[in-house]
Amino acid sequence: PTSVMWFRRDLRLRDNPALRDAVDAGTDGVVALFVLDPRLWDGAPPARRAYLAGSLRSLAERIGGAGLHVVRGEPAAEVARVARRVGAGSVHVAAEHTPYGKTRDAAVADALAAGDVPLVRTGSPYAVAPGRVRKGDGGRYKVFTPYYAGWREHGWRDPAAGVRGVPWLDPGGRSHRIPEAAVPDGVALPTSGEDAAHRRWRAFVADDLDAYATARDLPGDDRTSRMSVHLRWGEIHPRTMLADLGTGAGAEAYRRELAFREFYADVLDQRPDSAWDYYAPAFAAMEYDAPGDDLDAWKQGRTGFPIVDAGMRQLLAQGWMHNRVRMIVASFLVKDLHLEWQHGARHFAQHLVDFDLASNQHGWQWVAGSGTDAAPYFRVFNPVAQGKKFDPDGTYVRRWVPELADVPAASVHEPWRMSQPPAAYPPPLVDHADERREALRRYDAIR
Ligand code: FAD
Repeated sequence: PTSVMWFRRDLRLRDNPALRDAVDAGTDGVVALFVLDPRLWDGAPPARRAYLAGSLRSLAERIGGAGLHVVRGEPAAEVARVARRVGAGSVHVAAEHTPYGKTRDAAVADALAAGDVPLVRTGSPYAVAPGRVRKGDGGRYKVFTPYYAGWREHGWRDPAAGVRGVPWLDPGGRSHRIPEAAVPDGVALPTSGEDAAHRRWRAFVADDLDAYATARDLPGDDRTSRMSVHLRWGEIHPRTMLADLGTGAGAEAYRRELAFREFYADVLDQRPDSAWDYYAPAFAAMEYDAPGDDLDAWKQGRTGFPIVDAGMRQLLAQGWMHNRVRMIVASFLVKDLHLEWQHGARHFAQHLVDFDLASNQHGWQWVAGSGTDAAPYFRVFNPVAQGKKFDPDGTYVRRWVPELADVPAASVHEPWRMSQPPAAYPPPLVDHADERREALRRYDAIR
């Protein structure tokens, strides 16, 4: 029989258990399939499309002669059509746990079942698939720290053995070219593809892992792994990365961050509604402001708070923002501008190349205080104090806010205190002390 390997966000050949199953089942050949789903592709921002197109090209190159068969359309119809044409005995995927992924795969499984072809789900984009880590009573975790202990105790498999000599099959018929998607002007993207992901990972482990526990919080140093985008597209599996982590403080801290990614996927699997609704429903009743010019100033990086503006401009320039700064800008949107977190999450979704529904929405809900963490609403980030603490000499701010390039370190996080602030840089949009009090007042009202 032949089999179909349907690639989605697992754009790699190494450590890919679904591919191994496809090869075992497809003794007469394996068709490599990618479906350009208008629902995901058409709404995706240009930077993310460009990155994905690069990753697909790189995957196609690794596959070689028979190539990657690309079809465009509604997945249930398209996958079933390809399976029928090649007489496939099975279609293989890694399981998906996002709300749309689950619905789509159920529809595809139904369409395939009409022709008696199973949709075989092997593995997932996680070391431990959502739903596997359980409490003693079988319940699911709602808090990170106990989840993390359970996750470590549960453990994960070793990386899957590589598959060699895959009998890739050219299915004939009409294959779309991998779409041309230009990188937008002024945006610098990392190199995509499985090899690039492995190169980046090896460089991080060699140069920066030991220092990660402390350096990870300093956006000016820029020493985090930047693996999020590679994980987002499955160019590397987290299990491959976990297998390289030893026991030092850096490795411990890194493992914990990877566990956050898995925890949020688990929470979204439990509560699909939390993708756009408040995880803690009480927050829906809080008083919020309507978005207006303030939201635009935030998006453009013109709030007058240097660390906030630096982060927002990095997002536009790289499709990525440092984690510490993601927290600071998110807190500013929710607690200084009193806007609902969804406005910020949507903007992130429109620009992050590493956009991941679970990590993004729950990252935002965590900051907004409506997420899985018990009492963080009081944690109102002070953008000046955060800047001074985590960007003490202003390296990060100066890199992204050229108007402040010549401002000395002592004033770089509060340029309005200078006798002559740089004219091109906007004055602060709000008084942080006032807005902090206002945020707490609104919170008290729903408590
Ligand atoms: P590193 O510090 O090198 O971390 C290693 C890996 O651990 C990351 O690649 C990521 O997979 C995981 N990780 C680290 N921190 C977190 C976290 N807080 N939550 C979940 N996983 C984490 N991450 C995304 O991948 N996609 C998103 O859309 C996203 N949106 C976010 C929105 C907000 C408001 C916040 C506060 C965080 C968000 N994060 C998101 C988490 C985190 O900011 C990024 O994963 C990280 O900055 C990526 O850079 P890195 O790979 O260099 O991180």
